This record gives sequence, structure tokens and C-alpha cells, in this order.
Amino acid sequence: MTSCIFCEIIAGRADSTRVLEDETCLAFMDIRPINAGHVLVVPKTHAKDLSDLPAENGGRMFQMAQMIANALMKSEVRCEGVNLMLAHGKAAGQEVFHAHLHVIPRYRGDNLKIRFNLLKLRPTRAELDRIAAQIRHGL
Ligand SMILES: [Zn+2]
Repeated sequence: MTSCIFCEIIAGRADSTRVLEDETCLAFMDIRPINAGHVLVVPKTHAKDLSDLPAENGGRMFQMAQMIANALMKSEVRCEGVNLMLAHGKAAGQEVFHAHLHVIPRYRGDNLKIRFNLLKLRPTRAELDRIAAQIRHGL
């Protein structure tokens, strides 16, 4: 997978600013940060998205993101809260097809808008039951 920029970063063939790594995952600074201090956590073994990411590597990604989030909150970086975000697939906004978990520092008044339209959908219990059954079918 020489065409994968994150694999190139992991291998040290592309520049990056590393924050933390272990045998499974690497955390490095996003070069196009949403807010200062934006970090990406990636598995060291290539996985295009959640569909081919081993569960233990996904678990480790989350653990590393949690460590970075807690460190950001204690750091000099302007950070009053944190969003963790993973895009799975183009429709979700994924642009680099090597799974990555965003650790995004947040503060009151920043310009980032992640909106959940809480009022738009009002499903009935029957609809929730039906959709849950569809999800369970895929497990
Ligand atoms: Zn890769």
C-alpha cells in the first residue's frame, strides 16, 4: 500500500509530528487542523475503514485517543472539551482510506459546528424496534 499517505507516515517515509506510539497505533498532528492541537490516531497495520480494522486495533485506537484527549485538557493547548470523530466511508466524509480517529480540541466560541438535529426525527418505538432489528441482522 505505497499509495497510502498514513502508511508512508507510519513507515517514516513521509514527514509527520508524532505525539505517541506503541506497537499497534500511532498518534500524530493533523497538518490541516480544525483547531490547534488536532491529532489523528491510526492503526499501524493498514485498514481502509472499520470494515477491515481488527477489533483489538480499534480498541487500542480509542484508548490512545482517550489518553491524548486527557493530555490535551491538561496541556497549554486551548482545550475546554474534545470531540472524537471517525469517518467510515465517503458518505461520512472519509477522505483518507486508512482508518483514523480524530481527536479535536474544542473551546467555547470556536468556529467548529458539529450539529445533531435533535428535533428533526421523531421515530416511534415501532420504528426504533424495526431499525434495531435491521442493525442486528448485520451483526
Ligand atoms: Zn495505510
